[in-house]
Amino acid sequence: MAEKVIVRFPPSPTGYLHIGGARTAIFNWLFAQKTGGKFILRIEDTDVERSSEESVRGIIESLKWLGITWDEGPYFQSQFTKEHVAAARKLLKTGHAYECFCTKEELDRKREEARKKKAALQYDGACRNLTPEEVAEKEAAGMQYTIRLKVPRGEGFVSFEDIVYGIIEKKYQDIEDFVIVRSNGQPLYVLSNAVDDIRDGITHVIRGQDGLANTPKQILIYKALGAPVPKFAHMSLTLDPKKAKISKRTHGESVAVHFYKEHGFLPWAFVNYLALLGWSTPDSREIFSKEELIEAFSLKGISRVNCIFNVRKDDPKFFTDPKAISINANYIRNLPVEELEPYVREQLEKAGIWDPDYAREKRDWFLRTIDLIRSRYHVTTDFATLGRCYFSDDYSTDPKPLKKNILKHEGLKEWFHILADRLEDVEEFTLEETERVIREMAEEFGFKAGILINGIRTAVTGQPKGPGLFDVLIAVGQHRVVQRLRKAVKFFG
Ligand code: GLU
Repeated sequence: MAEKVIVRFPPSPTGYLHIGGARTAIFNWLFAQKTGGKFILRIEDTDVERSSEESVRGIIESLKWLGITWDEGPYFQSQFTKEHVAAARKLLKTGHAYECFCTKEELDRKREEARKKKAALQYDGACRNLTPEEVAEKEAAGMQYTIRLKVPRGEGFVSFEDIVYGIIEKKYQDIEDFVIVRSNGQPLYVLSNAVDDIRDGITHVIRGQDGLANTPKQILIYKALGAPVPKFAHMSLTLDPKKAKISKRTHGESVAVHFYKEHGFLPWAFVNYLALLGWSTPDSREIFSKEELIEAFSLKGISRVNCIFNVRKDDPKFFTDPKAISINANYIRNLPVEELEPYVREQLEKAGIWDPDYAREKRDWFLRTIDLIRSRYHVTTDFATLGRCYFSDDYSTDPKPLKKNILKHEGLKEWFHILADRLEDVEEFTLEETERVIREMAEEFGFKAGILINGIRTAVTGQPKGPGLFDVLIAVGQHRVVQRLRKAVKFFG
């Protein structure tokens, strides 16, 4: 039987979950789902100064919103410090590590000399071959020491086959005897991360390409500890259009997962989009249900080429990557309307225009209206902005169409007035009836249908575009249509 896959997502809680981190989490999660494996959430909180509980909460909230579920955790790296130090002690005992008594001043001086000679800036191994007596003497004298891994010397190299990047080799000569425990007794990240992976039985380390610098060192740690080396898959980086790495520091909120939640993205649509950042199927398909994505996913499909996330701040309507928006719009158009309903509700609630009856006696109307207006929407916030006129009388009228479609046509003033009266008298406010009344009146007054249709639409919705006019009238409802036409008469002053 093949071994059970165990993967992990170990974010550092030094800020919100950004799209690069989310993408790493998604790839790990997809791989676990695909293989029937286990997905562990591990919080790497050992950088005490930069870590915060608030970040932990934010990351967990974002993962939950995305629908990324974990089987174990969250575990906190800081709770395992003793275990990390114990691993280093074990390495001392087995001769895979040694105590280094060199002081910072000495090391700085040697580094400066090496720089002058343009030689390698590596630790020279001064303490590598101290005798047990020498070590005991220095310890007894109260000298502080770091613990360094004894990297094999000679011609060999660390070699591994990365699932994405292929064979990677690093000469022993190019790896110094690196520190695994500081002189204050704190383990270094490179050690802690590997020891956690060993404890958790991680079989596949799927992480950002920036982790690649640690991999050869970590493989040496695995081997020295006698632990099996996991497989590695390093993912290409997510860059902005100027080729800078996506980061909290440079891009602020606009790359935070919660920003997309607030701006009307559907969680699955966003996962779908993120999964396509540096991963694809041979047929370049774009829309995947959860089951389809899990089925199609393979680590082999991960691209080596860095992917671009179009951070854009120029235009509020196109505030982010066009592909992300187009995928979201696709879901808004095509989801079963009941699945969209809670997200629309959330936006109306936020905008203060939610009516509890929309979930009760007006629910049929609510669902029909969502279905009617959604085809042009990109984000769910559009339901509360562009769609506001369907849910509230307090909507604004766009000044451009007001001028072009209403004020330019003096005759509409009287016409709106009469139309309002006639529509008020209609007994059954149906598509056929409203259409009949409007067409008859157009003929009677000799108006072009286009002028009337644009005028009515602008009067009733405040906007120049939208679904078929008669459908719009039925959705807005008789009473409101009449009221709005009467109000439009006042636009003429
Ligand atoms: N805590 C690291 C990060 O946030 C994770 C590195 C790893 O996956 O090994 O980048």
